[in-house]
Amino acid sequence: MTITIHRGTDQIGGCVTEYAQDGWRLFVDYGEQLPGAKKSGPLEVEGLTKGDLSKSALLITHYHGDHIGCISEVSDAVPIYMGKTAREIQLTASKHVEYAVPEKRLEVEKLEKMKLFTPGEPFSFGPFRIMPISMDHSAFDAYAFKIEAGGTKVFHTGDFRAHGFRSGKMEKLLTLYIGEADYVVSEGTNVSRPAATSVTERDLQCQFIKCFREHKYNVVYPSSTNIDRLFSLYHAADKTNRLFIVDYYQKNIMDLASQDPVWGRSEFYNFSGKHKPLVLSWNQSISPKFSAAMERLGYVLIARANPNFNEFIVRIPREKTKYLSMWEGYIKKGSEAYSEALAEALGEDYLFMHTSGHCDMDRLGKVFELLNPKAVIPIHTDNPEVFATTFGNRWQIIRLCDGESFCPA
Ligand SMILES: [Zn+2]
Ligand SMILES: [Zn+2]
Repeated sequence: MTITIHRGTDQIGGCVTEYAQDGWRLFVDYGEQLPGAKKSGPLEVEGLTKGDLSKSALLITHYHGDHIGCISEVSDAVPIYMGKTAREIQLTASKHVEYAVPEKRLEVEKLEKMKLFTPGEPFSFGPFRIMPISMDHSAFDAYAFKIEAGGTKVFHTGDFRAHGFRSGKMEKLLTLYIGEADYVVSEGTNVSRPAATSVTERDLQCQFIKCFREHKYNVVYPSSTNIDRLFSLYHAADKTNRLFIVDYYQKNIMDLASQDPVWGRSEFYNFSGKHKPLVLSWNQSISPKFSAAMERLGYVLIARANPNFNEFIVRIPREKTKYLSMWEGYIKKGSEAYSEALAEALGEDYLFMHTSGHCDMDRLGKVFELLNPKAVIPIHTDNPEVFATTFGNRWQIIRLCDGESFCPA
């Protein structure tokens, strides 16, 4: 088996990895580069965007744009595989913006045609045997893959973390479904960000509970597809007897997670508390009863930076406490990802409450210990040098450049 990293050896977004065996090609992820990254332009990849496409397939680890954002460039001749709930969430998100961004129509068509895999159920493509396992990440229904062909076994981590609500089962899943691997193609997002994971998702929920007890009227800006954060906020609101208010779009996304065949069985991913969410419809006025309930109980409003929410927030009761619960780069002036709409909606006075969707280096090392590979190939990192110095004393680190291949002996 030959492993080629087409993009992502020295940047966090836009990773494309290829596994090739006997003329067959299995690609993992085809995403957009993150804002601010050096733009390499559209990729021209034999077997993915050009040439013979008859023996190629593309696996998507999860729905973040840096992993799925370029799928509309892939020919229909290449089958694309994704997890079922992840596909449903991305389809809802893409359809939601389709009216404003017509290019999303192609993405919607691709999503509708996708093939679906099930966690823990291996499947084959040509000479490849693929085992998808569920990983904890800030995208729901995210996957790592064990990929076997020609006697070589590779573990492709995808984006993941060990400090989320679902991380507790990770080591057990690795032992049960993966065992050891010859090579690990590993994400390394937080290699030079030691503080990014200092708060666990559960710690963060405790902080929210404390805040919601202290503040009666709360407006939180999380990512609409960060399912764990959203349900964490729902349960924090419920515990503190605050109304949990979302709009129809957000409620639809959360409902999709509740219908997940595995995680949907957990009370956490259901509206299992004393209070059900209150769902906003933008064509309705605020009834006096709704207004009185907000005034009496207080609320946790899950907001997005758009005119509907901005107008609503002005009309609902009292002085609000605002929270940013996603990456702070979105509101840092000068950052390529800067969102003026979000910065204006938040204003100057807000609390920043967030934790990373990616693994810290201690836990990443524990994953390598379990998998016991001959070598590790870092991707999805802006600092491969630090990755090599962090892990090079215990494992062989193979540093490739974009487009370069590694062929195990
Ligand atoms: Zn991600
Ligand atoms: Zn990513």
